[in-house]
Amino acid sequence: MAEKVFANCHSPPSLRKDLFLKQSLLFPRESLMYYNKNMDGRDMDNGASDYQRMRDAMVDNQLIPRGIKDPRVLDAMRRVPRHLFMPEPVRYSAYDDIALPIGEGQTISQPYMVAIMTELLELKGEETILEIGTGSGYQAAILGELAREVYTIERLPHLAAEAVSRLAELGYDNVTVITGDGTKGLEERAPFDRILITAAAPEIPEILVRQLKENGIIVAPVGERYSQVLIKGRKSGGVLVEEFSTPCVFVPLIGEYGWRS
Ligand code: SAH
Repeated sequence: MAEKVFANCHSPPSLRKDLFLKQSLLFPRESLMYYNKNMDGRDMDNGASDYQRMRDAMVDNQLIPRGIKDPRVLDAMRRVPRHLFMPEPVRYSAYDDIALPIGEGQTISQPYMVAIMTELLELKGEETILEIGTGSGYQAAILGELAREVYTIERLPHLAAEAVSRLAELGYDNVTVITGDGTKGLEERAPFDRILITAAAPEIPEILVRQLKENGIIVAPVGERYSQVLIKGRKSGGVLVEEFSTPCVFVPLIGEYGWRS
């Protein structure tokens, strides 16, 4: 018994990797957290980084089994370093199947929510998108990978400033962050091919429908303050034709055409 403990403590990187892989087959999520906390993102085999492996596991275990199919969305989620969009203390959970706090009472959405919202937008690569609720900037980066131009609005100046510097460091020069009340849209850049609201709206503001192109798509969590349904609306003949998808819970959209506080 003592010998076994000793062997584990001093096992060379390749053996530790074997142990990790065995463990991960039995306890995938726990192992991922153990791995992340203890190995601190170090490369163990000169191959892809540990974070890359965690991203791949996130896509393979959380997104594909739940029906996300668009290969461009799956690729973007494998590429964008989600852990760099959150505060240091919660980075070890960056690839877990949960939303995480990003400060000021706000959250970065669960990976699956980001994936499904992005898939519902049906992006081909040429679109101009308006996102409302920049938060960490992670969703904006995913959109930046998949569309031509992204404008994203955040009402809290501190979060907006952090997102600006992260997105610049990572080279997303097709993403512009604006501080303000996104419920009013962005008249000076309208009309948009796509609009994504990433905070819970009591309803889709009419002013945003006016800023959407004919045949354009809006995706938004709509409903009560603490429970919503993801809505996809396509503008057809000047009006929004809505479909409903997954139930969800987002932080509130606060502004002139959202919740008042
Ligand atoms: N998309 C984000 C997560 C969104 S959390 C990400 O990838 O991290 C929702 C965000 O919407 C919060 O940061 C909140 O401050 C912001 N928000 C709420 N009401 C808003 C409004 N009227 N205009 C712009 N941003 C708003």
